[in-house]
Amino acid sequence: VIDKGQAERSVVTTCAYCGVGCSFKAEMKGTEVVRMVPNKDGHANHGHACVKGRFAWGYATHPDRITTPMIRKRIDQPWQKVSWDEAIQYAASEFRRIQAQHGRESIGGITSSRCTNEETYLVQKLVRAAFGNNNVDTCARVCHSPTGYGLKQTLGESAGTQTFDSVMQADVIMVIGANPTDGHPVFGSQLKRRLRQGAKLIVADPRAIDLIKGPHYRAAHHLKLRPGTNVALANALAHVIVTEGLVDEAFVAERCEAASFAMWREFVARPEHSPEASAAITAVPADAVRAAARLYATGGNAAIYYGLGVTEHSQGSTMVMAIANLAMATGNVGRLGVGVNPLRGQNNVQGSCDMGSFPHELPGYRHVSDATTRGLFERAWGVTLDPEPGLRIPNMFEAALDGSFKGLYCEGEDIAQSDPNTQHVEAALAAMECVVVQDIFLNETAKFAHVFLPGASFLEKNGTFTNAERRISRVRKVMPPLAGKEDWEVTVALAEALGYPMSYAQPSEIMDEIARLTPSFHGVSYDKLERLGSIQWPCNDDAPEGTPIMHVDGFVRGKGRFMPTQYVATEEKVTRRFPLILTTGRILSQYNVGAQTRRTANVAWHAEDRLEIHPVDAEDRGIENGAWVGIASRAGETVLRATVTERMQPGVVYTTFHFPESGANVITTDNSDWATNCPEYKVTAVEVMPVTVP
Ligand code: SF4
Repeated sequence: VIDKGQAERSVVTTCAYCGVGCSFKAEMKGTEVVRMVPNKDGHANHGHACVKGRFAWGYATHPDRITTPMIRKRIDQPWQKVSWDEAIQYAASEFRRIQAQHGRESIGGITSSRCTNEETYLVQKLVRAAFGNNNVDTCARVCHSPTGYGLKQTLGESAGTQTFDSVMQADVIMVIGANPTDGHPVFGSQLKRRLRQGAKLIVADPRAIDLIKGPHYRAAHHLKLRPGTNVALANALAHVIVTEGLVDEAFVAERCEAASFAMWREFVARPEHSPEASAAITAVPADAVRAAARLYATGGNAAIYYGLGVTEHSQGSTMVMAIANLAMATGNVGRLGVGVNPLRGQNNVQGSCDMGSFPHELPGYRHVSDATTRGLFERAWGVTLDPEPGLRIPNMFEAALDGSFKGLYCEGEDIAQSDPNTQHVEAALAAMECVVVQDIFLNETAKFAHVFLPGASFLEKNGTFTNAERRISRVRKVMPPLAGKEDWEVTVALAEALGYPMSYAQPSEIMDEIARLTPSFHGVSYDKLERLGSIQWPCNDDAPEGTPIMHVDGFVRGKGRFMPTQYVATEEKVTRRFPLILTTGRILSQYNVGAQTRRTANVAWHAEDRLEIHPVDAEDRGIENGAWVGIASRAGETVLRATVTERMQPGVVYTTFHFPESGANVITTDNSDWATNCPEYKVTAVEVMPVTVP
């Protein structure tokens, strides 16, 4: 299945899994992939790869692929295969009917980090120009939207500051709420290489992740905090830095806003933020916090890497700002070996955000209320744009349930499986009059769809992805689309059927339009990508070949801004009925909701989600290793098998979410980040009990 013999040619393309964005050579025989070979010239991976990118591409030709458009008038009716034209015309006529009956705001679109930049750009253009509203959102809503918000507030740009290779100049590496050896394996290997060379490691994580010890290194500090207390921990680290005179005063004086720094210094210096006081919240011993803060502030080049363990909280945006505050206070921004580095989960999270697929921002993170920006797009697109922000994904669900949102175009995102509180999402989808799903498989969301438009896998399309280090790389078509159309062509056809023709001969022309309208992309073109191999934005007249390190001479917003970071406990409380906290994460061989990896040979490595539980909690409940357990939360119930392990701390359990039958999101709740509505996947109060499964 994996290796099919001698290749006739190879095509360089980019992995469609995680935000590392590894470059591969797809070795081909005719139109068939025979193997994927990591590209030695790949700027993000230098010839390395993990088991997902290397072996898990067979899903592209899996028999489950749907290759014919389908429609049905009601979701309890069987699907009817139709022509592309019939499906597109039906979707367009339904969207127009709904708008005529219920108003312009009654429909919207969701795009995905699985889409290319060009596809995402077109979805938000379709919603804004053809639907006539700003009801567009992306799956970044449920992962890194707090990164976009928090880094823009503090540093001025919604993106990580470094290139991956920068870690090789780091002397101290702080990893917060990320598990790079499983989630971002090629970068995880690079990070471990640096640790073996002697860099010091601080890990802040409720669970003992593999990274904390390797064959030739040990983490200097594992701050094993209670889930949901990140901000209290960050404030305690900041307290030590401020009260022990560890601030880089020269950097702060030259590069940061004096007033915001003075406010922050006074705030974190308060006794309530001392490590001793914070230990009551975080459960992290004060001496470990003090030692970690001293190491981060004085150990040389110090870099922070963080993941969804930071963002997927009710204070996700606050914690992103707290991380930026720490980096600015210690002068760890603007050169190699330092910085603030969000590890993006999916291949094109960065790109989908860059492309304006948020209800409040046009491409390039410019607010829809800004008349100058709107004017630029209005002239280019020949329409009048709505100055009011549209609905976020959770607002779409609420509006569907109150009867004001009736139609959805959903491309490349399985919201019924990946969004929290599945019951709530399904009820919202069931309440809509026209759901159009564009995907490669008949996913869980398609159970509620009236139109199914077959999508193309990354092997069947041209375009670009942007990885976690802002690196734009080409995705190249190695085989014809199984359903006859690339995804961008489907969006163009839908726009035309809605009476808003778009005219592109190929994706490079979409990128040319993006470059014309987006300052940080002004210098990007397919020709330049061909010549340079990849480009890190901003790429414009000031940086014609791109920008590996941001904020070198000054912050994008001018002066860096310290933001207040008051800790507020999550509303998700443990009680006698729900005494444990459930948190979630990933494993190496599987990817997100498993739509791709479980249709590949990778299931041989891992074929189920497990609940990890500490031996003390397991013994209290009579749970044995490998036994079935029921997990109940305020939202719902599910059943998994248990792994009893000292990786966990007492009172905290953990699961992955790769297999739909596990129903991880049946038990997660509606709680979300105060600024962005990113779901609080990482904190759910639960009870776990042994059950018998027939
Ligand atoms: Fe693909 Fe990420 Fe693995 Fe690289 S590290 S091969 S981008 S999944």
